[in-house]
Amino acid sequence: MIAWKILITDGLNESGKMILQASAQVDDCTDIQPADLLRIVSRYEAMIVRGRTKVTADLLEAAKHLKVVGRAGVGVDNIDLQAAYSREITVVNAPFSTTLAVAELTLALLFNVARAIPKADQSMKKGQWIKKQLEGVELSGKTLGIIGLGNIGGAVAQRAQALGMTVLAYDIIALPSEEWARLVSLETLYAQSDFITIHVPLNEHTRGMINGAAMMSMKPGVRLICTARGGIIDESALLNNLKSGRIAAAGLDVFAQEPTGLTELIAHPNVITTPHIGAQTEEAQARAGVDIAEEVLRALSGEPLRWKVI
Ligand code: NAD
Repeated sequence: MIAWKILITDGLNESGKMILQASAQVDDCTDIQPADLLRIVSRYEAMIVRGRTKVTADLLEAAKHLKVVGRAGVGVDNIDLQAAYSREITVVNAPFSTTLAVAELTLALLFNVARAIPKADQSMKKGQWIKKQLEGVELSGKTLGIIGLGNIGGAVAQRAQALGMTVLAYDIIALPSEEWARLVSLETLYAQSDFITIHVPLNEHTRGMINGAAMMSMKPGVRLICTARGGIIDESALLNNLKSGRIAAAGLDVFAQEPTGLTELIAHPNVITTPHIGAQTEEAQARAGVDIAEEVLRALSGEPLRWKVI
């Protein structure tokens, strides 16, 4: 018997959808616009989002029958958690599903800011041979500073060790991933790292955390990676520091405004960008679909939860 109505607003992997369809009516309204979502949300007991849908206090107020919001992935900065909590709406996510995909993209950006591979490729496609301009640096023997040593930061630390890097990390709590990195203060991390990668969530404490003052504390010539969230790095300060050469290069998967359009930061020759593809692997999307489908059904059934955010 079909018991629940579940709304999908940002797409979901087929295997996850099939799990839901076995016990619920599932409406896939991928890419639905906010006004349309506001109009129909009261029909559903659960909704599953990725990062695009903004689950605002207004939306939750309109969602009269909503019991659960599922985030197919990790970051819940697009969900008004306070509003969900006060309406007794459970929020669950799939915290391990995208860890490896984001860690591997981080490594890819690390190699790319060290060796300027996109610039090399673009020059080849123009029929050029600019070998002398393409002298990079090695990762081996360098120091990597990881800000946020959680699941993704830990996976990056483990892989960076295998590359022969010295790995420092700063986190507000000490975690099991500590074995892969030496925990230090933020000041020490800034002063000693040749490469810095950011893996904290976006929240009131981390918004603008990597600002002009932080950049001035970093080692001159540092290379910066961010696959966490736009808004953590102050993008205009980053552009200024790239222009002055204090920051040698940046690899960015996430931006304060998405989609971005072509900004001066993106156009800068020492910036390598990807359009928020951290979790975009077949494997991560399949895991996220299955994990969140199972967790949302558990939440609707009142079963114990593995990944309750609130
Ligand atoms: P996690 O919760 O396992 O790790 C986050 C770590 O940051 C934790 O150890 C936490 O203690 C630490 N932290 C929080 N606030 C901090 C602060 N102010 N200073 C220092 N450390 C702080 O999360 P995760 O799975 O590693 O994911 C990290 C982030 O990556 C997510 O929040 C999400 O925004 C982002 N992400 C991006 C993509 C993408 O597509 N690019 C995909 C998945 C996740």
